[in-house]
Amino acid sequence: MASCKNIIHLGLILLVDFVGLCTGRLIRTKVVILGGGMAGVMVARTLSEKGISDFLIIEAESVLGGRMKDTTFDKYTIELGANWIEGIRNHETGEENPIWTMAKKYNLTSTATDTDDLLTYDQNGQFNYSDVVDQAFAHFKQVLDDATKREASNLEDLSFAEGQRLRGWIPKTPYENVADWWAFDFEFADRPTASSMIRTAANEKATHGQWLEDDQFVTDQRGYAFLVREEAKRIATNKNILYNSTITTIEYSNSSVNITLKNGLIIWADYAICTFSVGVLQHNDVHFIPAFPAWKQESIFSSKWQHIQKSFFNFLINSGVTRNSFYTLILTDEAIIHNGSH
Ligand SMILES: Cc1cc2nc3c(=O)[nH]c(=O)nc-3n(C[C@H](O)[C@H](O)[C@H](O)COP(=O)(O)OP(=O)(O)OC[C@H]3O[C@@H](n4cnc5c(N)ncnc54)[C@H](O)[C@@H]3O)c2cc1C
Repeated sequence: MASCKNIIHLGLILLVDFVGLCTGRLIRTKVVILGGGMAGVMVARTLSEKGISDFLIIEAESVLGGRMKDTTFDKYTIELGANWIEGIRNHETGEENPIWTMAKKYNLTSTATDTDDLLTYDQNGQFNYSDVVDQAFAHFKQVLDDATKREASNLEDLSFAEGQRLRGWIPKTPYENVADWWAFDFEFADRPTASSMIRTAANEKATHGQWLEDDQFVTDQRGYAFLVREEAKRIATNKNILYNSTITTIEYSNSSVNITLKNGLIIWADYAICTFSVGVLQHNDVHFIPAFPAWKQESIFSSKWQHIQKSFFNFLINSGVTRNSFYTLILTDEAIIHNGSH
């Protein structure tokens, strides 16, 4: 019975493909790349370096870049998504951050962010409580060490906040709460109470622990995604990219993959490489046939994502600060800090 079903299914696919070919609604390619963000374009670059030119990038938007996206504010290009080149060199391996390599290749304008160079304020104006900020960071580092030891000893995980309390860091004053936010929430986009102590330490080790040197804040007026578009220009022609093309269904087997777009176009490929964000997968925006196995679904749905609000301010008055500045606005209203909607 099952094999009869399979034969009918195969017959239907062949029929659809035949009709598609006759009507020009079907494209064949060797490798289909799903999504034209940084990952998708890097896949295309890698294929191209390996001598494979029969690939097709399918992108829902009218431009490449994905979550590297800019807009114009006043007369300036500002980044809506990624803004930093996160560390320029791996301190453990000496390897250069490939994004930094690319940034140098295209003379991307950026400025180093020195997060230790802080000016602190409260509601009355500038007020120095850097010592409180230093304390918050010192405790943060202690909890990371404790987490590593905890994991090595096979002890049960705790929340990061519990780890902080065990180290005596119990923020109470608005200054301590702001310092706590700056030391933790700013980077992890969540409260320490909602974050795993052991996973935070692992995350920190894999990111800032290795990629330490200056984070570079991209201010290039061509936009951060200029890197993606320039790389694409060098390896792909218009024949290799489908813009404004939303994928609705991905039907895959061990030997081929059929992609259906919202506009009815069908793409038939030997291989597909999917670069959609976990958010896209969590929303079930794309129908996968067969559905992902349970272990993969568990992994997708157990990823927790946070919302970060980027706010842009146009300073009409010269602030008097002459060095390159990155402003972080932290609201000292405790209620706002505690409910996590910064
Ligand atoms: C607000 C914000 C700030 C960030 N800040 C930084 C930072 O400072 N530094 C840093 O390194 N990283 C930062 N990131 C993360 C960084 O932007 C991403 O990790 C990176 O851009 C992901 O690239 P990607 O190619 O993997 O995915 P994406 O850029 O998401 O590319 C996937 C592509 O798939 C397309 N797509 C999705 N669904 C479909 C569909 N159904 N059909 C067709 N196409 C589809 C999308 O349009 C998109 O172009 C930030 C992200 C955000 C959102």
